[in-house]
Amino acid sequence: MDKETGFSNIFLAPFQQLLDPAYRMSILYLASSLVVALAAYMVIKLRKGEAETVPLLRWLLPLEVLRHPSAQVDFVFYFVNKILLAAIYASVFVTAPLAQKATLALVNSLFGPPGAGFEPHFGFSILATALTILVLDFALWFLHYVFHKVPFLWDYHKVHHSAEVMTPITAARMHPVEEVLDSLTAGACVGVTYGVLQYVLGPAAIQIKIFDINIILAVFFLAAFHLRHSHVWIRYPVWLQHILVCPAQHQIHHSIDRKHWDKNMGFIFAFWDWAAGTLYAPKGKEEITYGLGTDEDGGTWHSLRALYFLPFRQSLERLRTRKKTETRNPSEPAE
Ligand SMILES: [Zn+2]
Ligand SMILES: [Zn+2]
Repeated sequence: MDKETGFSNIFLAPFQQLLDPAYRMSILYLASSLVVALAAYMVIKLRKGEAETVPLLRWLLPLEVLRHPSAQVDFVFYFVNKILLAAIYASVFVTAPLAQKATLALVNSLFGPPGAGFEPHFGFSILATALTILVLDFALWFLHYVFHKVPFLWDYHKVHHSAEVMTPITAARMHPVEEVLDSLTAGACVGVTYGVLQYVLGPAAIQIKIFDINIILAVFFLAAFHLRHSHVWIRYPVWLQHILVCPAQHQIHHSIDRKHWDKNMGFIFAFWDWAAGTLYAPKGKEEITYGLGTDEDGGTWHSLRALYFLPFRQSLERLRTRKKTETRNPSEPAE
């Protein structure tokens, strides 16, 4: 989750976010992902032997990925989008504090002012930290699910899935409509939770933060977050894949294979998918081709114009023609 950026710094936003660990794109999280990638390389080298292993730099930064039009538009889209979104975030990121204040005012008027409350206790902070993350993660999972299942919204989420190669910057390949809806809803959910917690437990119920963000979120970003958008396959044991989303599970989410469609929509936790029947926990290495898995793969989405405007055109066309097709429109019928 990103935080507020002042209007005066809008054009610096793409660079500031690289330097500030309050943002998921920060160099710190990229570096921690790099450390895990290096460890993965060592494991591959030990298993295959020196002669069989691709040289480190070529393995880490494959030219066919870096030179791919999908990756190149990702880099440009990142800078344009961050500047554009910084302007929006400057207004949008007041949502959580506003929702918190509104919730406190509402419960105060419904149930009267809070009682004497409890003695401040460190446990309240732990509870607030954990509960806020659970609510945030559920809100993000639910939004992601809705963006897959509602055809009108899928037209916007397609921007993220149109990537045909994955680099960490692909995480930022999001249409502004989706980013804003995500931020507003997640901000509102977190604000309401926080408001209720403060009413019930008192002012001691504050999140534990590091780098100005919730400490669990920071640890999640540090734990190889960026490898989910990369070619580096890191798979947790199957039991753990029911609790935490690993890089391999999100790579599955981007696969063109029909059996992988609409699976693993979780951000931090996998149990929402488990409960909804949308969990896919790979038991071994799977070969994955990234993209939409439709006729639109192969260049349709590799320009800034397409990434910004195609979703508007397709969703309006859908409304105009009342097209009731499924979210993806495969050339091959389902078996
Ligand atoms: Zn998705
Ligand atoms: Zn993704």
